[in-house]
Amino acid sequence: MAEAQARPLATAGPERANVALPLEQIQKVLDDVLDLGEKGAMMAFDMIVSQAVHHRASDVHFEPWRDCLTIRFRLDGILHEVAMIGKQHQERLIARIKVLSNMVIYMREMPQDGRIDPHADRMNRSVRASTFPTVYGEKSVIRVLDHKQDLMRPDALGFRDDVVAGLRLLVRRPQGALLLTGPSSSGKSTTIYSLLRELMLTHASNRHIVTIEDPVEYQLGRVGQTQINPATGFTFEVALRSLLRQDPDVIMVGEIRDRETARIAIQAGLTGHLVISTIHSGTSSGVFTRLLDMGIEPFLAASAVTGVLAQRLLRSNCSHCTRPYTPDPEFLAQYDVPKKKYKFMKGAGCKECRGLGYLGRLAVGELLITNDEIAELIIDRTRTRTIQEAAVRNGMVTFLQDAVDRVLSGRSTFEELRMVIPPADEVEQAMRAMAARAKTKVAPSGPKKSAASAAPAAKAKRGK
Ligand SMILES: [Zn+2]
Repeated sequence: MAEAQARPLATAGPERANVALPLEQIQKVLDDVLDLGEKGAMMAFDMIVSQAVHHRASDVHFEPWRDCLTIRFRLDGILHEVAMIGKQHQERLIARIKVLSNMVIYMREMPQDGRIDPHADRMNRSVRASTFPTVYGEKSVIRVLDHKQDLMRPDALGFRDDVVAGLRLLVRRPQGALLLTGPSSSGKSTTIYSLLRELMLTHASNRHIVTIEDPVEYQLGRVGQTQINPATGFTFEVALRSLLRQDPDVIMVGEIRDRETARIAIQAGLTGHLVISTIHSGTSSGVFTRLLDMGIEPFLAASAVTGVLAQRLLRSNCSHCTRPYTPDPEFLAQYDVPKKKYKFMKGAGCKECRGLGYLGRLAVGELLITNDEIAELIIDRTRTRTIQEAAVRNGMVTFLQDAVDRVLSGRSTFEELRMVIPPADEVEQAMRAMAARAKTKVAPSGPKKSAASAAPAAKAKRGK
């Protein structure tokens, strides 16, 4: 045992495991550390977390398969496999995660979650861990929580200046609701935390700032943060109702998911509180339709909601290796970009960006500020598209336009844009094609060309 320890510790011990390693070396060091048995699993986990922190990974996935356990890092929104380790180490490594996050070790058939707080001689980041049973054993995902709060100033997120200025204006108001929308992992939480942090730094002494979250991702200092627990009945709705008796000035509600939470949040925004929350919708104007669908009276939505931010994250070109490139002409057409002399840029891949060509992400967003014209449209229950058009007429830049502008100015690429915001007519084109195929199936006497193209589809379906 002593001998077995001596070898890897000399070459790949904790000293080495805690310095930044290139992604492709993680596998080798991990293999050496895991050979140490019980202690190896402990060291391996610490090493994985410290490497995840060095590489600025947001999440680490431990995924069991038939013959191995893979470890993947999510870097700037995209998963990358960094190691594949022997099946014999799987249970020990997952058990280590469960021990540290206070989960029940022997319970393997049910999902669990927990949190691991930083420890001076282990790792300097909090992580949130969860496990989930699969046919090949438990898998686990850990989220690395970023404590570098200086990174979280609203103007450091990559938004256009006018969006940042608008957001600052809205959160300085004493009342009203600011709602954020976007798919998961579109950076909504980071935006909200940055706004709360700024409020805390400027107004903590004279404003009572509270949050209700699921889960609490960052700890903000002098902000009263609360984690809801639906399993015990402590839901957003219950927490929000009770919190209003605690004399808050600013309330952040993690998400408006149901009618009752929506009702209380809107009411709070009308009665002297600033409410910041997220709600599910495709665009900023769609948020009003969603609130109305939840049973909120249009005049309440129109007067309480002072602004809506819809956001997305685009990976930005690595500044160390970016160079001109010619995008597929089809992309230009799909995004209505005229064939002009734009200087399109793309990262070629270098050591700094681990060969990916992208480094970091920038937020693109559309900020709809409710003015009289938009309020009237909401009260009239106007269609989402009409509200959107009015917002654009009043100066709102859509997140699509914002994202296209970033590509045209060389900050990101069409490939990235296409992945984050697919062209609007792509879905319509696919649906038209499907409809055409369905039509030719019921009408075999249709044009020869369509019938021929329908045949492989029908065959594929039978094959399934
Ligand atoms: Zn690079």
